[in-house]
Amino acid sequence: IEQTALQNDKLAILGRISAGIAHEIRNPLTSIRGFIQLLRPFLVQLGKEEYARIILAEIDRANDIIYEFLNSSKPSAPMKQNISIVDLIKEIVLLADSEALMRNCQINMETFGNSDDLRVSVDVKQVKQVILNIVKNALDAIEEVKEHRRGCIDLVTRLDGRYVEIMIRDNGKGMDRATLNRLFDPFFTTKESGTGLGLSVSYRIIRNHNGFVRVDSEVDMGTSFLIYLPLAD
Ligand code: ADP
Repeated sequence: IEQTALQNDKLAILGRISAGIAHEIRNPLTSIRGFIQLLRPFLVQLGKEEYARIILAEIDRANDIIYEFLNSSKPSAPMKQNISIVDLIKEIVLLADSEALMRNCQINMETFGNSDDLRVSVDVKQVKQVILNIVKNALDAIEEVKEHRRGCIDLVTRLDGRYVEIMIRDNGKGMDRATLNRLFDPFFTTKESGTGLGLSVSYRIIRNHNGFVRVDSEVDMGTSFLIYLPLAD
């Protein structure tokens, strides 16, 4: 799947707008947050503590969205480090494990080959963000499966020619053709509180690393994301 020029333009425009206004929106949000916290004891007295909780959660959600917008506008030149992808994946499993457990989901890691043969030259923060994005999407997709089955995410790493292949496979709800076609569109989301930015930004990050992304999916069966990153020299 190739990201089109139009999709790229969308991201670039989004970047400019968000850099311009994010700051202006964050400041008032911060003061609203502060004042709600001051009001909290009064709400508690009225038996309406729930309101404070909702307001704070919604402010935090707005902040998250702004953060993602800002991320999409960040200068795209990666700060590269030579690392073994295996170490990075181990860290991601650690980060995602508690969330996965809460959702009754198992994360497995499998590596083919020597950790030291799977070295890449990448911006660690950016690539971590990409894989975490995809793992989080997998967790969401598993949660939406109605029929009861144990959720499972496999992270499989191997060598493929001059590339390291990272497969993130889930047994979640899968995607139909229409969804697959729009997957990397900025703002495309099927989630109630999604931003639709995760995958479009992820795609751009991998392309900036001279890598590419493939997706296989089947409705009700699950989805595999395959990330290819060039081996470090
Ligand atoms: P968001 O997560 O905010 O919706 P993304 O760009 O990360 O934005 O994902 C876009 C859409 O792609 C999701 O709303 C979902 O419909 C679909 N999607 C992504 N990953 C998966 C997956 N592993 N299984 C099923 N659908 C997925």
